[in-house]
Amino acid sequence: SDHPGDKNKESAVNNFDYHNPTRILFGEGEIANIGNYIPAGSKVMVLYGGGSIKANGVYQQVSDALAEFDWVEHGGISPNPKYDELMAAVKTVKEQQVDFLLAVGGGSVADGTKFVAAAAHFEGQDPWDILAKQVPVTRALPLATILTLPATGSEANGNSVVTRGEDKLAFNSPLVFPQFSVLDPTTTYTLPARQVANGVVDAFVHTIEQYLTYPVNSPIQDRFAESLLLTLIEEGPKAMADVGKPAEQQNYDVRANIMWAATLALNTLIGKGVPQDWATHMIGHELTAVLGLDHAQTLAVVLPNLMQAQRQPKREKLLQYAERIWGLNEGDEETRIDVAIANTRAFFETMKVKTRISEYGHGAEVVDTLMAQLERHGMVKLGERGDIDLGRSREILEAAL
Ligand code: NAP
Ligand code: FE
Repeated sequence: SDHPGDKNKESAVNNFDYHNPTRILFGEGEIANIGNYIPAGSKVMVLYGGGSIKANGVYQQVSDALAEFDWVEHGGISPNPKYDELMAAVKTVKEQQVDFLLAVGGGSVADGTKFVAAAAHFEGQDPWDILAKQVPVTRALPLATILTLPATGSEANGNSVVTRGEDKLAFNSPLVFPQFSVLDPTTTYTLPARQVANGVVDAFVHTIEQYLTYPVNSPIQDRFAESLLLTLIEEGPKAMADVGKPAEQQNYDVRANIMWAATLALNTLIGKGVPQDWATHMIGHELTAVLGLDHAQTLAVVLPNLMQAQRQPKREKLLQYAERIWGLNEGDEETRIDVAIANTRAFFETMKVKTRISEYGHGAEVVDTLMAQLERHGMVKLGERGDIDLGRSREILEAAL
């Protein structure tokens, strides 16, 4: 049959299972309320990064809020969290009989804490298998986050990305969704320009990965995605203009809107019922693993070239993106797509994120290494249709130089 609204068409909304169990405590001062949502009598471990939370007063707020609890801390989780440092936390969890994990920081601390939660209860030989062999998580410690860097959506999803040597790998489990996450926009006032920009670009690309695919009759998901993209384009430069200013000169609403946009971009809602790409992220992970670029820097390098390489399979959505995000609705269609791609690149550059590998001091010699990584990690059929094979990835990387 081929009547409008036919469920068997590729354009039909897919079946889905939507369950997001993470409670969001949003707004200034909400850290003070966390004690209401941690089971009484829990032994808590506070996990954090390199010390930004001590410099900006967040650590003190957490410490005050945990006054009624017995708690230990584990700092030093690095950006792109490392397996060994997380396993050190697992050891303490077991020794101290910790039963609740509280991540305080950016996506790296949240992701690292999810791995600790899963590894602490792992029953096999080596918890690395959760990433390397995708062994399903069957049990995990409960965790929560206090987010200080809007970017990853990790505060409201079941994803985690962990690095070991040159392997930067992801796992996903419903058991590692945070129980709650505090989103206090004032905690983001101390972010340096590089991290404000990284966060906006990461959230933008998360949205694109679930939007710029092939068309499905999903006007709700499309318009959710478009509202997030437009908000990030409008608010991102305003946050950049406020970097380094004292708290009383900061625009709370700008930070609040960016924070909520980043959460909604990857709390799994906008991706329900629609195809998802994620090739930009998978190729980007190799760029971080091999060249050490920040996560968002890799996305800004890959995405414009992926749009170009995939312009035929993504054509209908590229035209919709051109019209609804960039106001391009007249003239030659190929030109509209060209301008939409150029505007995407220009937006990243406005946010002071570079869009070429050569700007990071690397040349064509890195392509073979990156290709070997993709092959080794089985990244050979990427994209919403699995049509980004190694040849297409090479084309994207060569164009990204
Ligand atoms: P991040 O790596 O967590 O943090 C980057 C830097 O920002 C750190 O040096 C951190 O310092 C600093 N920082 C954080 N909050 C700050 C604040 N309020 N003031 C000043 N400095 C602050 O960055 P991220 O972009 O959030 O996370 C990136 C990681 O998430 C990557 O590994 C990426 O692959 C992963 N990721 C995960 C998902 C997911 O769904 N789970 C999605 C996309 C990406 P301190 O260490 O001193 O705190
Ligand atoms: Fe990301």
